[in-house]
Amino acid sequence: MPFAYFQGKIIPAELAKVSIMTNALQYGNAVFAGIRGYQTSGKKSSHIFRLADHYSRFLNSLKILNTKIPYNHAKLVEVTLELAKKNNAKTDFYIRPIAYAANFELSPDLSRLTFDFAIYMIPLGEYLPIHKGLKLMISSWTRINDNMIPSRAKITGGYINSSLAKADAVNLGFDDALMMTQDGHIAEGSAANFFMVRDGVLITSPRSADILEGITRRSIIQLAQDLSIPISERMIDRTESYIADEAFLSGTGAQLAWIASIDSRTIGTGKMGPVTGKLQKLFFSIVRGNERKYSSWLSKV
Ligand code: PMP
Repeated sequence: MPFAYFQGKIIPAELAKVSIMTNALQYGNAVFAGIRGYQTSGKKSSHIFRLADHYSRFLNSLKILNTKIPYNHAKLVEVTLELAKKNNAKTDFYIRPIAYAANFELSPDLSRLTFDFAIYMIPLGEYLPIHKGLKLMISSWTRINDNMIPSRAKITGGYINSSLAKADAVNLGFDDALMMTQDGHIAEGSAANFFMVRDGVLITSPRSADILEGITRRSIIQLAQDLSIPISERMIDRTESYIADEAFLSGTGAQLAWIASIDSRTIGTGKMGPVTGKLQKLFFSIVRGNERKYSSWLSKV
């Protein structure tokens, strides 16, 4: 999209460039967000899904790094809406805010670094297929844990863990990977949270399982409660995922994508299950602006 936010101004995206000496490029000292914008159904307008919540997590990620940017929550929301207006997207889109160590400082010492803030936007349709049923594998790469690079914070450097798991899965013919915690429980996908259904109960790995606390995950939990679907946040064994009745991934990119198999074991009937179907239908109706009850989740551009 033509415009980006860079060094305090909206400028043409092709001019928003950093030096190869930038500390964040060397060490992954940056935090980011990934936010979706959708065209409103039946209208020539768009809106952004859970913008305020994404920036709360963004600021928490900076807090975990014990660093700050000279923007408060209200200002982050304001400049994002300003940029989205200026880009005037005619398709669904994706917003990528990033706060990065902008110094030309050789040391990775966070206490000496100053973080700058930028945003770019791109058009985005499906990131993972939503209708065909995902083929996943359990990765041999362990999920980074809270005392290594906290998964709870969306830190760029931590994504090498996702990159390794994703690329190895794709090279082996899978759509994505599930990663496990150090003690062998399912944490999450490379860029999405994991849900499964057993005996009518929707189950997802807890916040203490080295996951990114997904905004979509939180939304799905709320929808399940509103639809009177029992929900449990608890540890999931690897083999329990094989015998689930249904399973899906949730995330800003993934949206709500059902899983057809894990490690070549067919999940349930090998078709999208009824609980997943119900949640997916409601989720897409909400993000298109068709559910008044959830309109507080949408910010009009
Ligand atoms: N886990 C990881 C590792 C992710 O990168 C993402 C995508 N941001 C998610 C989960 C899903 O989080 P959200 O629903 O907030 O996009």
